[in-house]
Amino acid sequence: YPKLRTLQQTIAFHAAERPDHPAVLCEDRSVTYAELHRRSNRTAHGLQALGLAPGARVAFLAKESEHYYDVLFGAAKAGAVLVPINWRLAAGEVRHILGDSGTAVLFVEDEFLPAAQQVVAELTEAPVIVRLDGPAGPGTGLPDWQRAFPDADIDEGGAWDDPVAQLYTSGTTGLPKGVVLAQRSFFAVRDAMESKGLDWIDLRPGDVSLIGIPGFHVGGIWWAAQGFNAGVTIVSMRMFVSSSAVDLIRDAGVTIACVVPAMLQMMLAEPRATSAHFASLRKVVYGGSPISETLLKQCLDEIGCEFAQIYGLTETGNTAVCLPPAEHVAGSPRLRAAGRPYPGIEVKVIDSVGRILPPGEIGEICLRSPAAMLEYWALPEATAETLVDGWVHTGDAGHLDEDGFVFVSDRIKDTVIVAGENVYPAEVESALAKHPAVAEAAVVGIPHERWGEAVHAFVVFRPGRTATPRELMLFLRGEIADFKVPTSYDVIGSLPRNPSGKILRRSLRDRFWAGRVRQVN
Ligand code: ATP
Repeated sequence: YPKLRTLQQTIAFHAAERPDHPAVLCEDRSVTYAELHRRSNRTAHGLQALGLAPGARVAFLAKESEHYYDVLFGAAKAGAVLVPINWRLAAGEVRHILGDSGTAVLFVEDEFLPAAQQVVAELTEAPVIVRLDGPAGPGTGLPDWQRAFPDADIDEGGAWDDPVAQLYTSGTTGLPKGVVLAQRSFFAVRDAMESKGLDWIDLRPGDVSLIGIPGFHVGGIWWAAQGFNAGVTIVSMRMFVSSSAVDLIRDAGVTIACVVPAMLQMMLAEPRATSAHFASLRKVVYGGSPISETLLKQCLDEIGCEFAQIYGLTETGNTAVCLPPAEHVAGSPRLRAAGRPYPGIEVKVIDSVGRILPPGEIGEICLRSPAAMLEYWALPEATAETLVDGWVHTGDAGHLDEDGFVFVSDRIKDTVIVAGENVYPAEVESALAKHPAVAEAAVVGIPHERWGEAVHAFVVFRPGRTATPRELMLFLRGEIADFKVPTSYDVIGSLPRNPSGKILRRSLRDRFWAGRVRQVN
């Protein structure tokens, strides 16, 4: 293949190379590469007809479907920047994103139309609303917003460094910030792997690739771009539901999937899931949040295909570090690592005054990658704080080993400081998950008179199982240092998570801190 450098080049190339190959499967619908190319041409012409200037923001508010890809490629072909919006957000959050990005056109599906109209009415510069579910035009099967425009080729350029997507990421404080990603954010890691002939991710043209992560999350859009670059068939789910996901893997013959650990956990807990459901899989790429050793071991045993872990942030253009399949050896200490950087990507661990720490010492992980963001949209100060001399300061605590493997402890802001000792929630959660009665757990810091903070655990028990706080405490004493053992517990039915599978620790923590300010280091 020629080296495809932009999203629009990938779709144009494969439309010529494999026109009749299915590009996207969603529910009972299938769109070939040639069709997707033409449909996104129509979308691009439609955007141009609206008078869109290059670099204009085009937002997308809908569950997953083939329309997401029409707009992804259509916006790129028109030289616009896609702003995919999490449809679970509240009206005020959507208003912030539309207003902050200065969105000119908003694609929305009917389910969210009334809410979107209300939000748009409150904006001083209201975007044009385009209904994705607009009535299908006669003969073509296309909705009006596409049918009205020509399907002739269109590519308004788009250079390696040009912005193409703006994703909003919340972090733990303040309003979500718009992370501006360039075309290179989607292809630099591919180049890095190709340069050394690495097969850590290795999507292949015949692959049937499941996207578990939604397209408004960096993992979803990145995985789609990798798949289209390789000419695979993308299997898209309206939203992730574990019972449908396991059936879909079997029925669509999914060969490769990208999911967050919480999705793996849910799929393995599905009563209907048998080994036959996973038989077609040759590889699972997972990441986005820490994975417990118990879950990883269960995946190796019960799914039994190759696994690759990815680690990164929206700000690093998704993954900067990968734990390749060859390192997924049961019993290896490397299984606790997030992986090693791709060639050409640098990693360092620093202390609170910026000094580089030696292997083994925990500090803040910093990553320098050609895939990193251009900036936080319209936030020069926040950009300068996070992106220093090309290094992304991740806000994650972690360390390196002697061989350059990266171990992520947890978010610095989630670290619980018990009488001056750092406790990383993920480590305690992983230890709790080893208890036979525990399905999963979340750990937060709560105020404590003498120690400053104490470790509190929220525990979800396996169906029909339970354990007393004393039993859990005794069990943990054999697993982790005493000061890390939770001193209090809550039993809950399920953990609150965001769509990218992260535990919403702040919402669990807040009630303990009502009226007080939590110091974060
Ligand atoms: P939001 O989810 O609201 O957009 P976010 O900051 O959580 O906000 P991301 O940029 O997707 O969004 O999250 C990046 C963070 O996810 C990393 O900083 C790290 O804490 C965590 N993370 C990602 N991959 C891994 C991994 N493989 N192991 C451990 N943690 C991971």
